[in-house]
Amino acid sequence: MSESASCIFCKIIRGEIPAVTIHEDAQTLTFMDVRPASPGHTLVISRAHTPNLLEIAEIDLLAVASTVQRVARAVQKALSPDGIRIGQFNGAAAGQTVLHYHVHIVPMREGQKAGAHGREPANSEQLKALAAQIRAALEG
Ligand code: AMP
Ligand code: ZN
Repeated sequence: MSESASCIFCKIIRGEIPAVTIHEDAQTLTFMDVRPASPGHTLVISRAHTPNLLEIAEIDLLAVASTVQRVARAVQKALSPDGIRIGQFNGAAAGQTVLHYHVHIVPMREGQKAGAHGREPANSEQLKALAAQIRAALEG
């Protein structure tokens, strides 16, 4: 089996498992993290299956970076956080659990302590409501 056949993010790209999607284009896909570190935690992934920053093609890297900026601006507009954490892990030892290149966008509140990952699965209705707010800001 190829790496992409069993990859959970490739399965989302192929529509084999559901995700609460915010944005898609030719090179990237953006959706809500199911175990958010804070409300509004969003993931931007490359459509190409590449494990990490060290291996991704520059063209895909730049496309992800561009989407990260657009979505972070939309998160700011929609949710008015006090700050936004942008995170990315390379290798299991660094905390990477899904070996398909992705960037975390985590809205932060003053005084909030948040790890890189949430522990609890989010309520899917809440995820959909947050996604609708972010999508509206992205399109507005
Ligand atoms: P990491 O590989 O450590 O940078 O983090 C992977 C992230 O993907 C974690 O924050 C998970 O909560 C998230 N995640 C894993 N599976 C899914 C999924 N099916 N849909 C949305 N987010 C996911
Ligand atoms: Zn993949």
